[in-house]
Amino acid sequence: MSEQPSLLLLGAGPIGLAAASEASAGSTLLRCIAPNIDAPWLPNYALWQSDAARLELTADLRLAFDTVDLVGLSGSSRTIPHGYGFLNNATLQRRLRASTAGRWQQGRVEALTATPNGAAATLDDGTTLHARVVLDARGSRPDHQGASLPAQTAFGVELELPPGHPGLPMRFMDWSFATPDGEPPSFLYSVPTAPGRLFVEETVLSARPAVAIERLRVRLRARLDQLGLGEALWIAGTEEHCYIPMGAQPPTAAGAVIPLGAAAGWVHPASGYLLGHGLGWARDAARVAATGAAATEVWQAAWPADRRHMWALYRFGLDLLLRSDHAQTSAFFDEFFQLPPERVQAYLTASGSANQLASTMWMLFAQGSWPLKMRLAAAGLRPEALRLVRELSGD
Ligand SMILES: Cc1cc2nc3c(=O)[nH]c(=O)nc-3n(C[C@H](O)[C@H](O)[C@H](O)COP(=O)(O)OP(=O)(O)OC[C@H]3O[C@@H](n4cnc5c(N)ncnc54)[C@H](O)[C@@H]3O)c2cc1C
Repeated sequence: MSEQPSLLLLGAGPIGLAAASEASAGSTLLRCIAPNIDAPWLPNYALWQSDAARLELTADLRLAFDTVDLVGLSGSSRTIPHGYGFLNNATLQRRLRASTAGRWQQGRVEALTATPNGAAATLDDGTTLHARVVLDARGSRPDHQGASLPAQTAFGVELELPPGHPGLPMRFMDWSFATPDGEPPSFLYSVPTAPGRLFVEETVLSARPAVAIERLRVRLRARLDQLGLGEALWIAGTEEHCYIPMGAQPPTAAGAVIPLGAAAGWVHPASGYLLGHGLGWARDAARVAATGAAATEVWQAAWPADRRHMWALYRFGLDLLLRSDHAQTSAFFDEFFQLPPERVQAYLTASGSANQLASTMWMLFAQGSWPLKMRLAAAGLRPEALRLVRELSGD
């Protein structure tokens, strides 16, 4: 391990490992750094099945649903015809680790500095590693605009259902519970994980300031009471605490260090999801980096212009949601999910182009109810939207 690598990869989350696996097949000398490569990924990672298929991860799903339900504030239910699945973190992690064996060095990067030939990473044991290009997949950090960004927060837990309780179906969003006055609305996400077991999560899609996770625990308890699940056992060790900064501006090109994944603001600005699109984007950037390409080329692969335009459009959607109360949010999703399925799918999976996304947003406006039209129009006249038009007409 004494030779200095030309490509350095930081972080062993899903994005870091996916990028490491791709770059391992390349010609460049690669070294990967993480504090603990064996640390299990704890979140219940989910993605749309169309993404899993495109990424060849269908065999890595531990749970799969052909459709998901959306429940509105009034309690009316709609079936969304898109397959959804949960990753088997352990098998995916094991496979990616095996394909990167021998590349890893344990350590925590304490400083990254520019050098004439690239960048230098100083680790917590005092070692300094130099590389021509650094792929930084260290996850979202507060120093990345985090404090000022809106955030998605969620509190989840797996339940053992009381005998005879039928549980709930796979609900992507259930908006049918009252939100305490003046607080941002939250929805219930429910996943039947096994016979007699149900994962439930109370989620605020996005709020600034973020809603405290403890507050969501209280809301979840109240909802479970209403659902006759107040006595259900909370299975020890299954709690999920979720804090996802939303709507980060893409980082500006900064020399040899290329952020990927949550570190790069790849979180979908209007949903909080990342893996369905991000795993493929990470592979794309890593493939370019592994050829020995210059940092500017790797940068282009991580943030092509069209992707930046799409993110700007999505931030407009996020802005609308941040300005919506409970009834407006529920009504928005009800109307959104009435768009043609392929439009919905492309919006959720970030799989189209900026032009297609703009056309879907226009369709939502054109077909929307008068209240939605008025809210979209009001938001469209705001400085944020004007900035967006400028961004779209730039480079
Ligand atoms: C609870 C939760 C649930 C989520 N669920 C979903 C979901 O279902 N679907 C979805 O698409 N998205 C989900 N997300 C959003 C997103 O996909 C995740 O945040 C995902 O973990 C991001 O992957 P990443 O590899 O970019 O970063 P991370 O998973 O955060 O990995 C960061 C890696 O960097 C390492 N690291 C950190 N600091 C250093 C350092 N100084 N030096 C070296 N290494 C360092 C860490 O040890 C870790 O290995 C969820 C997020 C959370 C918080």
